[in-house]
Amino acid sequence: MRAFYVEADFVPKEGYILSERERSTQRALRGNSIWKNIRGAVVDRPVPECKDDQVLVKVGAAGICGTDAHLLRQDEDGYSKYDGHSKYPIITGHEFSGKIVEVGKNVKKLKVGDLVGIESMHWCGECDACRRGMFNQCKELEEPGLTYDGGFAEYAAVKAKYCYPLNDIVDYYGDEMTAFELGAMIEPTGVAYNGLFVRGGGLRPGGHAVVFGAGPIGLAAISLLKTSGAAKLIVFESIPERVELAKQCGADYVFNPMDFKSADEQADMLMDMTKGVGISLFAECAGATKFTYPVMGKALAIGGKTIQIGHTLGITPVDIFNWQWNAATISGSNGQSGQGIYPDVIALMASGRIDMRKMVTGRYNLEDIEEGMKITAGKVLVSTEYPKR
Ligand SMILES: [Zn+2]
Ligand SMILES: [Zn+2]
Repeated sequence: MRAFYVEADFVPKEGYILSERERSTQRALRGNSIWKNIRGAVVDRPVPECKDDQVLVKVGAAGICGTDAHLLRQDEDGYSKYDGHSKYPIITGHEFSGKIVEVGKNVKKLKVGDLVGIESMHWCGECDACRRGMFNQCKELEEPGLTYDGGFAEYAAVKAKYCYPLNDIVDYYGDEMTAFELGAMIEPTGVAYNGLFVRGGGLRPGGHAVVFGAGPIGLAAISLLKTSGAAKLIVFESIPERVELAKQCGADYVFNPMDFKSADEQADMLMDMTKGVGISLFAECAGATKFTYPVMGKALAIGGKTIQIGHTLGITPVDIFNWQWNAATISGSNGQSGQGIYPDVIALMASGRIDMRKMVTGRYNLEDIEEGMKITAGKVLVSTEYPKR
């Protein structure tokens, strides 16, 4: 089969101390400290074997995530720029859907011919975090496309327990390709859903909401907040293509944060726009916490919610008194597995409540995946069904 295959050399940086697990499994906890000379290409690979608890899917569509492009970039010393867990060589791609062509002998609930979307945080079910129901915090976490072969391929083998049927989406739209495309976008939509509703507790209809950053997760947050009854839905984004996508997904107002002289000026505008009520829910999908928290602190509604979804490094300036005084919360969120997130996102897609195709900015044949990786706004999908360039 054809697959986008990424190889790299295991060369821990000087001074980096390998953990026991890293040494025995060659699975890096911090990829940027270990993987050197990273390179990817579409090549022939064997069709994966379907184990007893797995299904073999013919991949219908796969989304390119920022991570997929980022891990191929190198710093000046030749190390991968991706700082998360990773193992090479590997077929990348962790946002995908497909049709089941084979089921392992222990698989009970899925059958050949089913269309499925696949969780990307592969939880073990046995560690302390999993036993508390916190699957995204699994201590033995694996990720397709990062720690074992993923979805930029014609076929992928995955455990049945990470698969969710897309039948309702097929029923609603009447065609399989739409179900594959939406199915590939459950993952980023689920990341937003997890933050907004599971970790953050959701928006009370009639509250005003702000989304910082209109990358794919931000666009999903906008779509979800729109359908859950945000009164004013305000977005901060500076890249023109993303501004347009934010509007398509339902933003009422989009502002360029660069147009403001200070955080106070942004906060004052939000208070004016909401007649002094403030913002009931902030979704931080930008990872620009140095700039966003000073704005949020001064524009919180009473009982407001701050949800941290974007990844950030370094120290965030938080004047916590603002949250305390307003009885407000800050919730951290990571991942999209478990907690009924996939079924609920599928139900929203299968009722037309959200249509994440609005954020698609490119459709590329698997052979042309590297072209698709150059697009930096919206979501680019890859499929062997799309015409070659
Ligand atoms: Zn991703
Ligand atoms: Zn676990």
